[in-house]
Amino acid sequence: MERTDVIIIGSGINALVAGAILSKADNKVLICERNSEPGGAIKTATTATLPGFTHELLSSWHPLFVGGPAYAELKADLEAHGLVYLNTDKPTGVVCRGGSAVLSTDLQATAGEFARLGGWRSMDIHAQ
Ligand SMILES: Cc1cc2nc3c(=O)[nH]c(=O)nc-3n(C[C@H](O)[C@H](O)[C@H](O)COP(=O)(O)OP(=O)(O)OC[C@H]3O[C@@H](n4cnc5c(N)ncnc54)[C@H](O)[C@@H]3O)c2cc1C
Repeated sequence: MERTDVIIIGSGINALVAGAILSKADNKVLICERNSEPGGAIKTATTATLPGFTHELLSSWHPLFVGGPAYAELKADLEAHGLVYLNTDKPTGVVCRGGSAVLSTDLQATAGEFARLGGWRSMDIHAQ
């Protein structure tokens, strides 16, 4: 058997990030996954809806990763392997009792949406 410094069971995003960072620190890492594909709850499929469309079946909030320290550390390596994050200036929105708001990558535009709804604190985002 080859020498292994670290064995990680499962290949979800936390395992992959940990494995990548440990590898960059010259550790030999073995990641064991029981499913046929790595990635855990990150799973892309081309057969979910219409032909020609590719969907992420579970995860949608990739900004949580892109805005975090792990992405900052691994960005260059991921891009060297072909990762490209495409974005839109209106990536998400919220529906609440007071109406709906489109959230923008532009801070002023998002602040304007919340102001239009009367402010974040006055909104009830739990019920509808
Ligand atoms: C429906 C849904 C939507 C979500 N949407 C988002 C989102 O939009 N944005 C976001 O940030 N998070 C989202 N999450 C949460 C996110 O999926 C989890 O936080 C993340 O996947 C956790 O990653 P993980 O590395 O801990 O493990 P997981 O992604 O759960 O992966 C665990 C892996 O370990 C493998 N494994 C387990 N036990 C063994 C074993 N004994 N031997 C071998 N392999 C094993 C599993 O097969 C799996 O591949 C969502 C979760 C769900 C369920």
